[in-house]
Amino acid sequence: MINLVTGLKSLQMLGVSSIRDTISSKHHSRDFKYARAEYMRVRVMLLGLAFAVLTPFWAFMDAMILPQWVSNFLPVRLSMFCGLLLCAGLAYRGQDKISLIYALSGLVFILPAGFYGYMLWIAPESVGYIVEAYGFIPFLLVATLSVFPFTLIESSLVGLALLALQFYASYQKGLWLSPQSLQDAWLLAALLVVSLTANYFHLGLLQRLYRQATHDPLTGLLNRGALNAQAMQLVRAPRPMGIHILMIDLDHFKQINDTHGHSVGDSVLATAGVLLRSVCQPDCLVARYGGEEFVVLILGRTDQKAWELAQLLRNNLAELTFLNHDRQHFSVTASMGLTAHDVKGSLADSLRRADALLYQAKRQGRDRVSSDVVILPEQVAA
Ligand code: GH3
Ligand code: MG
Ligand code: MG
Repeated sequence: MINLVTGLKSLQMLGVSSIRDTISSKHHSRDFKYARAEYMRVRVMLLGLAFAVLTPFWAFMDAMILPQWVSNFLPVRLSMFCGLLLCAGLAYRGQDKISLIYALSGLVFILPAGFYGYMLWIAPESVGYIVEAYGFIPFLLVATLSVFPFTLIESSLVGLALLALQFYASYQKGLWLSPQSLQDAWLLAALLVVSLTANYFHLGLLQRLYRQATHDPLTGLLNRGALNAQAMQLVRAPRPMGIHILMIDLDHFKQINDTHGHSVGDSVLATAGVLLRSVCQPDCLVARYGGEEFVVLILGRTDQKAWELAQLLRNNLAELTFLNHDRQHFSVTASMGLTAHDVKGSLADSLRRADALLYQAKRQGRDRVSSDVVILPEQVAA
């Protein structure tokens, strides 16, 4: 049976999951992926532009201090300059394109690191000059990691690649494992630890802000604004999946507050939230839509399966028992409206239809599901 202990356990899980989510992006929600990509997009634009603008200055400085044949390499410099500008430009136009933004974030690191690696490879006889002129690049890039809300795994991979580049430079210089090269590697590793710490706090803060802006604190469910935003993304997808909208309203909830007090009412709402989440997820979006109203977007199910889910939720809610402050048991029921989203119509229309069906269920006596989707008679009986 679902009770408050389960609710508390799920809150503890939240703490564990937020640490897990700073390590890898595997469990990030689709919507958080969009939010994080948006932060990365702005950083790619600014850093891509900043690095691109610095490239001609580097060329000028190199021409002043390096032998001419090292400072030349115009095609490589030009490629890096154009690549960085392209990154900034594509990021500018790449809103909502998560994979593109991840790829561009990687390119902002790969282009300068690739330039340094290429110079070391192409002109080993001038490696002393090259390391003197460009040896700062791995350090600059490791520091730049802290500017992005990367996960620890993402930053570690980039950091290790930059450490390998640093070792390659020592190797080309003939100082492989010399005290100087080990000291440089140690400095780079220490800088990487600082950047990883910054990533950990950066991503943790982003998650907390995202959570507070999109989730209801009492039930842990999505709030109305976040549900609408995510629903719009689903509806606008190139190949939108079938969506059913289930609107739920707890019956006579005011009486529960009046009889048992608001704190008991709150615990009923929190437990209903835990139940909805545990029964519906992962292939549904569940939101607290208003006071004692919830909306479930059921994704990719047939009319019959959506109907069965609605009935399951209604039954499970009715079977819950709650304790009031006098340790007396009571229960709660819910009325529901179920409709299918019409891809040709607007989301607001579908929500209005679900709301009208919900009030039909209320009028017909409460504790029931009212629906306009086609259901076989034997399933209604079930
Ligand atoms: P119906 O069956 O027609 O839906 O009746 P109802 O009493 O559930 O509906 P009504 O709209 O009259 O009352 C809803 C109540 O929900 C009133 C409000 O005090 C309560 N409520 C809204 N938000 C919260 C909350 O966060 N905590 C608590 N404890 N109560 C809340
Ligand atoms: Mg209501
Ligand atoms: Mg109600």
